[in-house]
Amino acid sequence: MQDDATPIQSRDGEVAAGIPVPHGCVVLAATPIGNTGDASLRLIALLQQADIVAAEDTRRLYDLARRLGVHVNGRVVANHDHNERQKADSLLDEVEGGATVLLVSDAGMPTINDPGLAIVRRAIERGLPVTCAPGPSAVLDALALAGLPTDRFCYEGFVPRKASDREQRLRSLHNEMRTMVFYEAPHRIDETMDALLAAFGPDRQMALCRELTKDYEQVRRGTIGQIRQGVIDDPPRGEIVLVLAGASAEDVNEASPEVLTAEQLARLAQERAKSEGVRIKDAIAEVVKEHPLPDGSFPNRKEVYQASLSLRDSA
Ligand code: SAM
Repeated sequence: MQDDATPIQSRDGEVAAGIPVPHGCVVLAATPIGNTGDASLRLIALLQQADIVAAEDTRRLYDLARRLGVHVNGRVVANHDHNERQKADSLLDEVEGGATVLLVSDAGMPTINDPGLAIVRRAIERGLPVTCAPGPSAVLDALALAGLPTDRFCYEGFVPRKASDREQRLRSLHNEMRTMVFYEAPHRIDETMDALLAAFGPDRQMALCRELTKDYEQVRRGTIGQIRQGVIDDPPRGEIVLVLAGASAEDVNEASPEVLTAEQLARLAQERAKSEGVRIKDAIAEVVKEHPLPDGSFPNRKEVYQASLSLRDSA
């Protein structure tokens, strides 16, 4: 298997001869996610012929061009998360003047957890043409290798870093029936696996896919419990994608939470406060936690408290 360090032997211009490049257009192009050999002929032609190349990191762009053995003839500009909105209009002015603007990120598909969306949106607003030279992306690579259903899936990107946000996000996915794809970094895999275990239990099937397309590509398949243990025993290094099986119809029927009104929650809390001899505020806190809303957030405690006061007053 080829990795990043191995240059493709090609003579500039020869490889992609005859591949047409559109003029007066923004072209998003996917770049390899680890294996230089995954570069498409269109990417090579675009690197050679685009008037402007907007790259997430210009050094990485030149490094890719070197490995591909191609010369970037156009003007290279930096286009990263922090400046892409400001950059969009000036790049689109060039497109309006007939230029080919190639947009690439460090690896994979632009716009997928990478810059690119700002210029696509602005091009649409300005009625300017935008097209794509598709190619490698870790989402589809991992999905195809996981062995889980591919007929319906959703891409969830990175789970939030803050524990409470992460828990809420995962709770909101509890009844998700589609296969779910998450991106992850090795230094956060421990806490993410703990969160998956807490949210979905140990028995769901999943796959941990690392270093895709590279020499040390590895796909670990198993239950959440098994993969969690594997991460402890043999911590995975490199870039990671997690693929998680969706809920079965039975899971959803069993778990589907009824959305209760503030008054219904207040009644439950009052019953609990009475039967367990706890303060109404504590009973409300417990009841609210047991009845998350479909988006994974919890009902508003103050509203439930108000409802409980109204019930008491009208009793
Ligand atoms: N635009 C990219 C794409 O289309 O896949 C994603 C960029 S995102 C900033 C980087 C994340 O993608 C990594 O943290 C990892 O989760 C995933 N990723 C990228 N390359 C990968 C690879 N070769 N193997 C596994 N995961 C990869």
